[in-house]
Amino acid sequence: MKIFKSLVAAAALGVVAMTVTAQAEEKGLVGVLMPTKTSQRWINDGDAVKSQLEAKGYTVDLQYAQDDIANQLAQLENEITKGPKALIIASIDGTTMADALQKAADAGIVVIAYDRLIKKTPNVDYYTTFDNFGVGVLQANSLVKGLKERFPDTKPWNVELFGGSPDDNNAFFFYNGAMSVLQPLIDNGTIKIKSGQMGMDKVGTLRWLAATAQARMDNLLSANYSDGSRVDGVLAPYDGLSRGIIASLRAVGYGSADQPWPIVTGQDAETASVKAIIAGEQYSTVFKDTRDLAKATVELTDKVLSGGKPEGLDEKTYNNDVKVVPSILLTPVEVDKTNYQKIVVDSGYIKPEELK
Ligand code: BGC
Repeated sequence: MKIFKSLVAAAALGVVAMTVTAQAEEKGLVGVLMPTKTSQRWINDGDAVKSQLEAKGYTVDLQYAQDDIANQLAQLENEITKGPKALIIASIDGTTMADALQKAADAGIVVIAYDRLIKKTPNVDYYTTFDNFGVGVLQANSLVKGLKERFPDTKPWNVELFGGSPDDNNAFFFYNGAMSVLQPLIDNGTIKIKSGQMGMDKVGTLRWLAATAQARMDNLLSANYSDGSRVDGVLAPYDGLSRGIIASLRAVGYGSADQPWPIVTGQDAETASVKAIIAGEQYSTVFKDTRDLAKATVELTDKVLSGGKPEGLDEKTYNNDVKVVPSILLTPVEVDKTNYQKIVVDSGYIKPEELK
């Protein structure tokens, strides 16, 4: 009887212990909103954020909005009703969330803008991203390096400019970063923008759509390069756009011995673009390790939700029109034919067999 009683007591203790452990590990719900699955990077981001949060004991609700602003807003409203501890949001249009985020703030939900700044609201607590101005600088430096390598004797170099989506704050940082390098070369006549199209209002690509970039490149080529002149370089801010631009160039005969590929830049080190770099069609991309961004974001979230105070944040770069949002800025890396193996393959970001 004695043994039986102590067994029961031990079992009960065990149950209590298990419950305590289960409670300690279950840290609550985090809603993660991503813009679209049409670009590989956001799939990588979503997967990395989800798995890393789960490893820390959070339950994760991960949603994609197929680049539809209304859809993402509905997801956000719905998520708030589920009572999450935090929301991690990569917005489609960073200016449309103020009303919903007021509700989030009223409910005490911590809001983190992921990669893209959320604007026009006080109710965004932190921002995790890369040095986006630096991305543009890397793109432009790479463009100039490629022009010198491939067309050493050409002066001026004919270049065309593409920007990202004007509703994405990052697009302006990329463009301004790139122009900080290119403008002096345009001013001194080293580079000529043959179409004359400059400024985000003229070169922006709504919703980062490859087809839009391809159509604009078609127009640029027929309007400005039908006289036998050649485009030597194209500033493209994102790999999807780069591939659209390359398709347009291919259609009019670029990529042959007497009509070499212009230098085309990019961003995100998407598998298809790394393949295009290996094939010599795209010159470069900018790699932003989404695993690191996920890690920084998950650690920040966990720290804040555990009552800690994050340290070492950038408190000056990202003003969202209401306040400066404390930010973590990671470092982007230029990737071209000479270093893709080391940077994206050896690091395990892309598997070697995916590049075959
Ligand atoms: C991201 C880029 C991405 C682009 C298009 C930007 O906000 O920072 O990495 O290429 O969106 O998805």
